[in-house]
This record gives sequence, structure tokens and C-alpha cells, in this order.
Amino acid sequence: MAGLLAGKRAVITAAAQGIGRAAAEAFHREGAVVTATDINAEKLGELADLGMAVETLNVLNAADIAAFAERTGPVDVLFNCAGVVHAGTILDATDADFDFAFDLNVRSMMRLIQAFLPGMLAKGGGSIVNMASVAGVPKGVANRFVYSASKAAVIGLTKSVATDYIKQGIRCNAIAPGTVQSPSLEERMRAQGNYEEARAAFIARQPMGRLGTPDEIAALAVYLGSDHAAYTTGQVHVIDGGMSL
Ligand code: NAD
Repeated sequence: MAGLLAGKRAVITAAAQGIGRAAAEAFHREGAVVTATDINAEKLGELADLGMAVETLNVLNAADIAAFAERTGPVDVLFNCAGVVHAGTILDATDADFDFAFDLNVRSMMRLIQAFLPGMLAKGGGSIVNMASVAGVPKGVANRFVYSASKAAVIGLTKSVATDYIKQGIRCNAIAPGTVQSPSLEERMRAQGNYEEARAAFIARQPMGRLGTPDEIAALAVYLGSDHAAYTTGQVHVIDGGMSL
């Protein structure tokens, strides 16, 4: 049976670990021709071993992104997954924290979309999937000022692109996960001193009583990238174990 993404070419950012990696593997399983990108060349090597094209790509570098898009050619699906969590309230945030988070979480998406949208338009369509979070919209989350502001901006960016290109076959959606087990979440839990207590607190945010898995989020990205999602654009697809209820 043909996979959900058979015949599609896809580019994924932050694909070396966590949700991006699970998405790269799921896209590949579903028949997409995947180019997995990240700054972590070593971990990308494991995806190359599975048969994917890999590219070391820093989403902060516009010139590298433009050259990468030129080399790659038109794609059907772009999954902008790269993002960083900044912890703290508005009084903890510096200009540098804010600028860095917006550069990595928001402007990177502008760069990637600017690089790949013309190819999608030329071939008559495409699906862009942007990684947001429940933090910001739809939910206020404690100690996540910079992160929430940047992820809310991802939603505005998503709706804007969806609106401007809806007549040209382009869909642009956002994914808003609750807390998901990933290497950087592991780091955040360890950084808090008492690991078990931190883990319990992260789990308690979800009324379902557990963390999400990268595979669960990847399955939503596959759906949004596929033609099964042909009638949805500009939406925030919440997947959060009930965190925002
Ligand atoms: P992660 O944070 O463990 O890994 C992030 C990956 O991004 C790493 O492989 C890293 O090398 C890569 N990366 C960092 N800077 C980069 C850059 N400049 N250019 C290219 N790649 C870069 O993965 P995760 O926790 O699954 O998070 C992935 C995305 O999902 C992020 O946008 C995050 O905000 C979002 N998200 C995560 C959760 C969660 O609980 N884990 C919840 C909601 C949203």
C-alpha cells in the first residue's frame, strides 16, 4: 500500500532529535523523499543510514538556506520544526534572549518559507507545517514569556501565509503540542535539580497524566503534509494531552 506521503518531497528542520527526528522517520516511512536538516551533523548521520538525504543547515543563516533551497529544488512539504525554549518571566528576559528566540523560532520560518514557497507556487501547491506550542496560544504558561511570545508569532505568520496563498494551492498550518518527551525536555528536567519532582510537574500539566511522544506529534505532521489534510489551512492543530483544556 502506498504511504500517505508517497511521491512527495519534503524538507524538515531540526530533524536530528526529538519531534523533528520522529517526523523525518515518519515522513520517510510514509513514502516521502525526505531531506533532513539540523546543525547536529553527527546525529543527522543516523538518518542518512536510514536512507534519507541529510544537510547540515543552520536556520539562522539566510544565505545558507537560500543556497540549500537552490540545491534541493522544489518540495511539496516544508516542516519548520526548529525552536528553542527560553525559561523565565518578562522580568527575566533580556533583549538578547528575545532577539535570539525570535530569530530561531520565528524568523527562521520566514527564511525557509521565502526560500521554498516560490518552488511550491511554480509546481501549483504545497504544504507548510510550522511548529508552534500550546504556550502562547491557546494557553498562558508560567515562566515562558519569551517562548510564548515567539510561538504566538508563529501562529500569526502561519495564518498570514495561509491567507495570502490559499488560491494558489498552498496550505500553511501550525502544530501546537503540549509537553513532549524529547532530549531538550530531558535537559530542562535535569537542570531543575530534583529530576523526579521536575518530571512529575511536567507530567501534571497534562490532564491525560503523561507526556506526549515525538511519534504522536510526527503523525500529525504527516497528516498535515499529506493530501488527507487538503481542506485545512491556517489552523492551529493542538495536540496536548488536554493541557489547554
Ligand atoms: P529538541 O529541542 O530536543 O531538539 C531541537 C533540535 O533543533 C536539535 O536537534 C538541535 O540541534 C536543533 N537546532 C537547534 N538550533 C538549530 C539551528 N539554529 N538550526 C537548525 N537546527 C537547530 O526537540 P523538541 O523538544 O522535539 O522540539 C522541537 C520543536 O518542537 C521546537 O520548535 C519546540 O519549541 C517545539 N515544541 C516542543 C515541545 C516539547 O515539549 N518538547 C512542546 C511544544 C513545542
